[in-house]
Amino acid sequence: LISKQPNTGTTIFTVMSKLASEYEALNLSQGFPNFDCSPKLAALVNHYLQKGMNQYAPMTGIPALREVIAQKVSDLYQVNYHPESEVTVVSGATEALYAAITAVVHQGDEVILLEPCYDSYAPAITLNGGIPVYVTLSPENGYQIDWNIVKAKINEKTKLIILNTPHNPTGTVLSVEDLNTLADIVKDSNIFLIGDEVYEHIIFDGLSHWSLLRNPVLKERSFICGSFGKTFHVTGWKVGYCLAPKQLSEEFRKVHQWLTFSTVTPIQYALADFLKEPENYLSIPMFYQQKRDKFLSCIQNSRFSFTPAKGSFFQCVNYEKITDENDYDLAVRLTKEIGVASIPVSVFYHQKNDFKILRFCFAKDDETLEKAGEKLSKL
Ligand code: PMP
Ligand code: GLN
Repeated sequence: LISKQPNTGTTIFTVMSKLASEYEALNLSQGFPNFDCSPKLAALVNHYLQKGMNQYAPMTGIPALREVIAQKVSDLYQVNYHPESEVTVVSGATEALYAAITAVVHQGDEVILLEPCYDSYAPAITLNGGIPVYVTLSPENGYQIDWNIVKAKINEKTKLIILNTPHNPTGTVLSVEDLNTLADIVKDSNIFLIGDEVYEHIIFDGLSHWSLLRNPVLKERSFICGSFGKTFHVTGWKVGYCLAPKQLSEEFRKVHQWLTFSTVTPIQYALADFLKEPENYLSIPMFYQQKRDKFLSCIQNSRFSFTPAKGSFFQCVNYEKITDENDYDLAVRLTKEIGVASIPVSVFYHQKNDFKILRFCFAKDDETLEKAGEKLSKL
């Protein structure tokens, strides 16, 4: 067998979660909440299971869920997506990303990635014969995007640019100025965009989520990927969606059809009902802002330095005042020796740039955050 992915190993999330469980460490590595979803949401799933909604859902998602997703983006951002032709329910944002990439990337096409970036992008590109082209962002200027560098990477082979806001792992967010600049760059091109916006509702300090769909030039060429796993504390359900203009959705659905065909039925019915009450997602920013602030207060007296995350449920910290070890070794050592697992941020760079940063997931109950803070403050 000639491997199609010779450089693919086990993801860092699996590696660190396994190590955390082996060493009974507090697991602030892989991004998932250690608390349960709303009992109301769980009861809705039970209800639909009992009601016998247990066979294949329609390929594009049940109409009620597509309609309420379209309603939500219309209410929040005053944009229209037709539920019938422009909203597709998928089995997690990972599927949405893979399907969108597969829909547009041909052999030899280039895809611009801003690193650090989520680990599924590059393999999805190369499996489709595409070539990732990296723009490297650095913590030294707060991971700000120099759009002139992005522009300089564009050529006739550039097919797609992938953006992630709020950002995993850095916790940064795009601004309206970023969107305007990007629109100027792509407006006369055939470049498509993916907006990985799975942390859309996890944004802090009153900041507005600048979804790519809020800029008309960007909207017409974008696949917007969302995930209910993040928003409703149910990462194990793997249900998400993709919003894209009709023609793009058509191509997206061709891939989705052959990839998973359709997505878990009773959960779609439950989510459709749950989403009808806006409070269920409007309460999320404050809920997670309190988690962020709790974690920051717990590490305030440590020797880590940090800029508070603006979004996502991750906090990056610099550990240069503590040790000069590389971030991977440190993450492993802290798991084994002090019992707190994290993610080394170098894994989000293709050349494993080591800026001496660890990522902690603060989607944890307060007691876990306090215990982790105590241990980390002793370093
Ligand atoms: N994109 C980013 C930035 C993520 O952090 C995640 C979380 N795993 C995903 C995509 C995938 O989301 P899902 O679990 O819905 O597949
Ligand atoms: N998105 C999650 C994280 O960044 C992990 C998802 C996964 O394990 N694949 O931690």
